[in-house]
Amino acid sequence: MISRRVAGKRVVIVGGGGSGDAAAFALRKKGYDGDVVMLSADRDRPYDRPYLSKEFLRGEIELQKVFLHDEADYAKEKIELRLQERVVGGSMRDGTLSLQSGGQVRFDTLVLSTGGTPRRLPDAPDSYNVLTLRSLRDSQAVREALKRGSRLLLVGAGFIGAEVGASARQLGKEVLMVESAPVPLARALGTDVGELYASIHRSKGVDVRTGTTVKEWHSYGGRVVGVTLSDGTREEVDVVLIAIPTLMCLECSACPSRARACAWILVCGPPKVCTAAGTSRCTRTRCWSNRFEWSTGRWPSITDAASQPRSRQATHR
Ligand SMILES: Cc1cc2nc3c(=O)[nH]c(=O)nc-3n(C[C@H](O)[C@H](O)[C@H](O)COP(=O)(O)OP(=O)(O)OC[C@H]3O[C@@H](n4cnc5c(N)ncnc54)[C@H](O)[C@@H]3O)c2cc1C
Repeated sequence: MISRRVAGKRVVIVGGGGSGDAAAFALRKKGYDGDVVMLSADRDRPYDRPYLSKEFLRGEIELQKVFLHDEADYAKEKIELRLQERVVGGSMRDGTLSLQSGGQVRFDTLVLSTGGTPRRLPDAPDSYNVLTLRSLRDSQAVREALKRGSRLLLVGAGFIGAEVGASARQLGKEVLMVESAPVPLARALGTDVGELYASIHRSKGVDVRTGTTVKEWHSYGGRVVGVTLSDGTREEVDVVLIAIPTLMCLECSACPSRARACAWILVCGPPKVCTAAGTSRCTRTRCWSNRFEWSTGRWPSITDAASQPRSRQATHR
């Protein structure tokens, strides 16, 4: 019974993505009757990100379809969902989290499910037509930009680049995809599948340039209008999407021996961090969470609650 396993009566979940949302509802489903608080930096209630580069981006489904639960479900299940609340630190010893907006939130059990953050290229101009895609609002911005523009530059041929490229082609846009590696997705899928993947994109009209990077950005009137690539060609573009690998908010280096330093922390989210199922792989984290004061203690088991998020980990990106 999860209610007996979870230490304390106040579970605070940091992160309002699929993992955090699943953990919150799983707690209720399994009979946990203490407080459940979700703190999410996002402006919107939890939604299903896969739609953002596919059906929603192409305008094939309504906004309501992307949300994981109706707004009323949170009240019904007594899940206190607090949006636009970014956690910037905290104390494990005191059981408190500090919010960017000021103030603190107390917890007995902490679930960290902070997912990933898109990265930008350091030399890319901070321009309104240079976008990244992670949130619902990002997807809406890309969708609007694609309505106005006819040529999309994708920097990065990973999954998100591929999906947006395919969607943009379906919307009748020209797509230039620039990838620094010789074969796209080779690390994830191997060279053969990577080659196949590139050839499928090419057959659909995507201009895939591998082993190529952006050397120079050309702007006019506050927007990027073109790029010079490392192969020396100059290309005109209307919209740019930086689709390079995300930065995990809680990236860890492997350090099993430190698992117990994560007492009271349950993480359901990206791989390579402490997981809720207690795989005992855990270490001090590199991002905001390293501002916690780590202390030792017992590892509370919330395995059942985390079972759904864990299934997502394999494909986390
Ligand atoms: C466009 C797109 C398409 C995708 N398509 C697929 C697909 O087809 N198949 C697939 O398997 N996967 C896909 N993925 C990946 C999948 O969406 C992720 O694996 C999944 O979102 C991970 O869920 P999560 O809850 O762990 O993290 P996230 O969804 O990243 O959620 C993290 C949450 O934490 C919040 N947060 C972060 N830091 C803080 C903080 N300090 N304080 C408070 N809140 C914070 C964020 O605002 C966010 O709400 C896609 C991802 C994207 C972006």
